[in-house]
Amino acid sequence: MDEQRKMYTGDWKCGSCGAAITELPFEPDPARADGLRCFDCHKKQQSQQRENRQMHEGNWKCCECGGAINSLPFEPRDDSNLKCRDCFRK
Ligand SMILES: [Zn+2]
Ligand SMILES: [Zn+2]
Repeated sequence: MDEQRKMYTGDWKCGSCGAAITELPFEPDPARADGLRCFDCHKKQQSQQRENRQMHEGNWKCCECGGAINSLPFEPRDDSNLKCRDCFRK
């Protein structure tokens, strides 16, 4: 059994920072070589996506302290018992 993941070696370039990419866990589509990302940029992109993940902007009020809530990680169905981040932690 071959437990090692096959790596493809080649001579590509990161489309974001321009760093050389010599190994990939998949065979890249030559037509999409511009979209290749080196390991660092890939990681950065992923963490950015996580941060930007579905933040809903709005104008709500905390039911505990009355403080303003401007963004939530979810779309509130019932906004009468929303809590701001501080009160939520209590
Ligand atoms: Zn890069
Ligand atoms: Zn509050």
